[in-house]
Amino acid sequence: MDEQIKFMREALKQAKKAYRLGEVPIGCVIVQDHKIIARGYNRRNTDKITLAHAEISAIKKASKKTGDWRLEDCTMYVTLEPCQMCAGAIVQARIKEVVIGCMNPKAGCAGSILNLLQMQEFNHQVEITRGILEEECSEILSRFFKELRERRKKKKLTTKRLILRPWLETDAESLYKYAKDPEVGPIAGWPPHTSVENSREIIKNVLSVNETYAVCLKEDGKAIGSIGLMIGNASNLDLPDTEGEIGYWIGVPFWGEGLIPEAVTELLRHGFCDLKLEKIWCGYFEGNTKSKRVQEKCGFVYHHTNKNIHWELMDDVRTEHITCLTREEWEKSREEVKGYE
Ligand SMILES: [Zn+2]
Repeated sequence: MDEQIKFMREALKQAKKAYRLGEVPIGCVIVQDHKIIARGYNRRNTDKITLAHAEISAIKKASKKTGDWRLEDCTMYVTLEPCQMCAGAIVQARIKEVVIGCMNPKAGCAGSILNLLQMQEFNHQVEITRGILEEECSEILSRFFKELRERRKKKKLTTKRLILRPWLETDAESLYKYAKDPEVGPIAGWPPHTSVENSREIIKNVLSVNETYAVCLKEDGKAIGSIGLMIGNASNLDLPDTEGEIGYWIGVPFWGEGLIPEAVTELLRHGFCDLKLEKIWCGYFEGNTKSKRVQEKCGFVYHHTNKNIHWELMDDVRTEHITCLTREEWEKSREEVKGYE
């Protein structure tokens, strides 16, 4: 029993990793000879693949580690009752036992909807233990869904002159108007858009990710630029899940009005206060003095330079200066501002 609690706690740690990525918090570990040989957590949205469930990732890792697709002497600890896909994989991998945190009445296939783990018709049946750390396992899920509902309600950020809101496909025309300009994309690292249809595709496939916002003027709600916070490995900078990177651009007619610093200031507040990030990074390519000024204005501090990197989106070679702002520095700068008020 003690061992079961101990390993379920480890599975919960994995669930927390998913939580921090904004994924449904489900975690899993696989144990062999009283030792953890593999861990996994849900990354379905991050990796954009159905197969990225906690259990499947852990099974993959366990097989890699043991060099065998059969996991006959292994026990899986998973915070939520497995779905039909994972239950199928568990049977296929011939896992000996599954220890479950909480049940999933709407989709579980270890007893709720079906019990795929114990079908007499299959050649392998899995032992099941249910309800280990049930409360913790279900609490993290209900907290996640509660926060998700709240986030969805107030997914809009506002500043004095701007609204930052998720991109909509109906923004395609407005996006194309500004993003076709060769002065905008290339210095930020992406090619100019080629048609309204091209802009629509980019809204669907690129700009629809979590924490990417259309920068809209309050007066008419039209999208005139974009700003995003890429958290953890959503960033190219290879960041841990407690750090993020801000990227932005705005249409040429709006340059020099201080709108991007205004948007960045709000996104910094959102990142540090709402998302509890520890560090936020930014960067600009050699020669992009406008972007450099934005970052200085917003308190980012020069960190390092990546020289002569091959930039895939543009298929060219560039030098990128990376800047950073820690939570501590940000809090301090806010206090200073307050002091002047
Ligand atoms: Zn699953």
